[in-house]
Amino acid sequence: MSLKSYFQQPGDGRVHPHISAADIVWAIVMSRILRVTSFLRLEWLVHSPARAGLGVKAPFGDDVLAYCTQRMNPETTRLALAEALHQAKRNKAFENSRFIGLALDGTGAGRTYKEPCRLCDPIKDAKGEVHGSLHHFVLISVVGVGLTLPVDVEPYGPGDSEYAAAQRLLRRAVEHLGPRFADYVVGDGAYATAPFLHTTQEVGLPVVARLKENLPLLAAAVRARFDGQPPHSVFQEGDDRVEVWDADDFAPWETLDWPAVRVLRYRQHKRNGTVVQAEWLTNFSIRQLGSLSFYRMAKSRWEIENRGFNDGKNRYGMEHICHHHPNSILIVWLLIALAMVIERLYRSRYLHRGDHRVRTAIDLADYLWLSLAAGGPPDTG
Ligand SMILES: [Zn+2]
Repeated sequence: MSLKSYFQQPGDGRVHPHISAADIVWAIVMSRILRVTSFLRLEWLVHSPARAGLGVKAPFGDDVLAYCTQRMNPETTRLALAEALHQAKRNKAFENSRFIGLALDGTGAGRTYKEPCRLCDPIKDAKGEVHGSLHHFVLISVVGVGLTLPVDVEPYGPGDSEYAAAQRLLRRAVEHLGPRFADYVVGDGAYATAPFLHTTQEVGLPVVARLKENLPLLAAAVRARFDGQPPHSVFQEGDDRVEVWDADDFAPWETLDWPAVRVLRYRQHKRNGTVVQAEWLTNFSIRQLGSLSFYRMAKSRWEIENRGFNDGKNRYGMEHICHHHPNSILIVWLLIALAMVIERLYRSRYLHRGDHRVRTAIDLADYLWLSLAAGGPPDTG
């Protein structure tokens, strides 16, 4: 399925639609690139003279947006995201990167005081009193390739967990992307548990996860081994001097079915004098992956926070619930992910021709607003 055919048939579940889903979905994706983050503001936009420039045929109200997103099939948008990423890989958008990573992390968004839905997690204070609720999801994103590209999201409500949602998400993402799309999975300390690590093995991907005190025996063994030793190697990475300790023969904890665990400790000396030390574990062998590449993979995890959640919430409205219904919330998250992928590929790969600099996201939004105001259709590539 190409992106073009997705925008023609985005998984509409309505029986007798008056407004085509093609118009609605295109308008939602474009509105996110334009930083329009509520259905009411999108209603205003499609009733303005800018509608023609946006390529939207007929105006519609926020009730239509709510009704349609409540009934869309999320699988169709998930497949479109996977197809956009395949296309990026085929077009060599990642060609300078040796390893393509998939990072996972969970977050909460969309605080509300309305009547709870199936995905509402009550927010309780120390006395157990409820102050509204929050919606949780796990995001999986391509990292380590110079572009952070969201792949898919999986919500989890009360009675479910980040941990279970992450395993469902990883399985589905690898099924959609194919087993040879990515080279590794990366996650924080919450993912350094035997069932999650076994899931990465089932889907055929090596994993890099933060080692913290939730694995007290391994953490103690690492301290006992590395604390008294000089660094095994030292390298310069940008402005930082990085000391590393790297050994591949730590004993697995009892529930982990790996023959041995490899652990990297790094001590990163920044130019301003701050020192960051952390430990990470992996099942990559030293032959497959040198210490510096291991270090870079560990660092690629930050992309999901900075370029995934922070950008998603501050710029594309991931924090805001447009219509308080579980499927609508999920569809909007997925369309935000798609808007981020299209926008980032367009800016840094398609628009980046010749020697002009890469346009920033806000530059592109401004440019689109100006072309809408001028009455000309924006070049949507
Ligand atoms: Zn809710």
